Amino acid sequence: MKAIVVTPGKQNSLRLEDHEAPVPQRGQLLLRVLKVGICGTDRDIIAGFYGEAPTGSKFLVLGHESLCRVAEVGGGSSGFRKGDLVVPTVRRNCPEDCINCRRGMSDMCLTGHYFEHGIKGLHGFAREFAITDHNFVVRLPESLSDLGILLEPLTIVEKGITQAYLMQKSRMVWKPKSALVLGAGPVGLLATAILRLRGLEVHTVATRPEKSLKARLVERTGAKYINSKKTPLDTLEARYDMVLEVTGNTSVALEAQNLTSLNGIVSYLGIYRQEQATEDAGEVFTNLVLGNRVFFGSVNANKTYFLEGAKDLSRIKNEWPGFLEKIITRREKPDNFTEAYSPVGEEGIKTVIQFEV
Ligand SMILES: [Zn+2]
Ligand SMILES: [Zn+2]
Repeated sequence: MKAIVVTPGKQNSLRLEDHEAPVPQRGQLLLRVLKVGICGTDRDIIAGFYGEAPTGSKFLVLGHESLCRVAEVGGGSSGFRKGDLVVPTVRRNCPEDCINCRRGMSDMCLTGHYFEHGIKGLHGFAREFAITDHNFVVRLPESLSDLGILLEPLTIVEKGITQAYLMQKSRMVWKPKSALVLGAGPVGLLATAILRLRGLEVHTVATRPEKSLKARLVERTGAKYINSKKTPLDTLEARYDMVLEVTGNTSVALEAQNLTSLNGIVSYLGIYRQEQATEDAGEVFTNLVLGNRVFFGSVNANKTYFLEGAKDLSRIKNEWPGFLEKIITRREKPDNFTEAYSPVGEEGIKTVIQFEV
């Protein structure tokens, strides 16, 4: 079978290999991979920034965003049947089975020794067949047999927003009205849609022109699009109850803190390159304290967010037909892996590799 692999830590070692299909053990499912989605994490691994092969392997199969069908149940009462449309979560428990991993919250693992399919110590889903633990798999309705590939990036949003609500509601009476989303890639667009579903007034900022696909998709949900090249962030007058930072840009991340209302919250979902501070740290902390603000980071998502995300994916599909379809701007066959993993370009948003149509 075809498998897209890298040698972790080795720049540009991306290649297509021919592998034997894995055999599921008891408690595992054999998955026929339909599609994998590509994001910045994959490109970072290809660039050699991170990524870790499973113990005893010299290579790592890429792919953490997937849509699959159950091909075989490896024994044990999994509750799954051959043919089920499913999405596996990405992270698996640490060997110590810490208190959070043990309770189904490996996204909040305390040891940091967790495993991640396609990223850290476990092969990913960019291959025709894959295996995974049946406890970390969610079933999707047939109506999501194509768009279900967007579930994993959506779970990042689900967690970032759910945790913000939990924190805010536990410390005061909080009835948010407005939200600002910084970035309009797949995660920013999905965040815009989820916040609109929650009834918030949403402004979404990116660098693309007003007529671009990203801008049109933002407006499709009833949110307002702001082109930061025309309207720089430091000229915005509005202050927002919640800010979601998904650009991964350090300057934007700092600016986010000035755009929250009193008692507001900033959820950071990007990966920020190290940069010299361009802001006075004293001002940042004073702004944090005197405004009762919360700045927090969020990564990965456990099965609860996948279950919630599956429902929201259907809601978005029904509310704004065509919105999710347009996020997928490129579809490639596994043989065209080089093109698939190259940057998306000006009007590109999300690339998907189709192992089976
Ligand atoms: Zn991803
Ligand atoms: Zn753990």
